[in-house]
Amino acid sequence: VHPSAYLDAFEEASKGSGGELGLRVPFGHGGYEQAALSTGLACRAVADVMAGRVRNAYALSRPPGHHCLPDWPNGFCLLANIAVAIEAARSQQPDLKVAVLDWDVHHGNGTEAIYIDDPAVLTLSIHQERNYPLDSGDADTRGVDKSNINIPLPPGAGHATYMQVMERIVQPALERFKPDLIVVACGYDAAAIDPLSRMFATAQTFSAMTAAIKASAAELCDGRLVLVHEGGYSEVYVPFCGHATISTLADSTIEAPDPFEETFAKRQPRGKFAKFLATYVDDLAAFHAP
Ligand SMILES: [Zn+2]
Repeated sequence: VHPSAYLDAFEEASKGSGGELGLRVPFGHGGYEQAALSTGLACRAVADVMAGRVRNAYALSRPPGHHCLPDWPNGFCLLANIAVAIEAARSQQPDLKVAVLDWDVHHGNGTEAIYIDDPAVLTLSIHQERNYPLDSGDADTRGVDKSNINIPLPPGAGHATYMQVMERIVQPALERFKPDLIVVACGYDAAAIDPLSRMFATAQTFSAMTAAIKASAAELCDGRLVLVHEGGYSEVYVPFCGHATISTLADSTIEAPDPFEETFAKRQPRGKFAKFLATYVDDLAAFHAP
């Protein structure tokens, strides 16, 4: 995934006091080892699911990875965790077909760039339109054999829009592609009070999206599903969204009720804006249909 010149420069700077090799991703002494551990966790999660040691897995990895290009780190991402994990699995099983669903609020530009010419990896990204990066994530960037599906959403979209996207765009695309493994770039920054975005997903949204993708994995690839942690910047709300996601993934009965549920339910889009969003997703679904 990453050329050795990049890895060597990263490791060299990490041995000293750190540095900055791309955009908005400074690192300190030992940054290389930290990034490698994060990537290694994603690799282990994928390897354990592929070997059948666990049904599914959540890699609580830091730093994140979905913005990292092969030789240019950006957006807090130093190594492309998910892509490295996929390539490690493909080195064992070359004909593996993998779908990557990115529901971090920012465009998964790194994953897209790495797989744009590779029809064996389907990349889907649901993101706030023109948030980060500003110049990527348009729906018409479709990749070879339409294996890249961008779903840019207007600011303010909430629970209903995310569920409509899952049902109308994500699930049909997965059914067409028939993956052997599904990986989710799981950011929580589409949540209603995230400081880096303007979306209205809630803990319930993350739980429902997890249930939907888990159902797709059960139907299409014996349940093989790995969630890899990406962004999420609300210190008070990410824990509730994360708990909702992981408890749904693991069929846990341990409850952590979302104290914001009622407040955020009242603020979901309604009226003309809700109608606009529903039409917007219908149009995107038609665009991405075969
Ligand atoms: Zn993000």
